Amino acid sequence: MQLILIAVILSASMKPMNHALCPCHSAKPYGKCCEPYLTGSAKPRTVTQLMRSRYSAFAMGGCGDYLYHTWHPAERGTLTAEDLSVPTVEWVHLRIVDSEQKGDTGHVEFIATFLQEDGSAGTHHEKSLFVRERGQWLYHSGVVTTEV
Ligand SMILES: [Zn+2]
Repeated sequence: MQLILIAVILSASMKPMNHALCPCHSAKPYGKCCEPYLTGSAKPRTVTQLMRSRYSAFAMGGCGDYLYHTWHPAERGTLTAEDLSVPTVEWVHLRIVDSEQKGDTGHVEFIATFLQEDGSAGTHHEKSLFVRERGQWLYHSGVVTTEV
């Protein structure tokens, strides 16, 4: 519980300074982790980098363009960049459980923790599929595991 409280305090400052810790909980400075991807100055080379940067985008809010353009067009449905800019829940932690990448396909299994309305922590456990098209990694789809 204490860990979660600390994470809440860290994530409360929306856009971090580039020397602050990255919102994806990599323990690296934001400027050396997800920021180059979110600002478009670099492209993620691995599925884990894309996964982490998308988590950061969700956690910070206001990054709908990035989430939209890194979501496979065939799978993102009718969501718009504006929709994706609005934070739905407060994400407080990310743990990468497993990842693998082969050619232009990859998977990342992760557990993301968020704050529920009653203040308790909820978890989202997903194994995501990523595909690379024209040199750009895209989130394709995910299988969600229901936690007990
Ligand atoms: Zn990061």
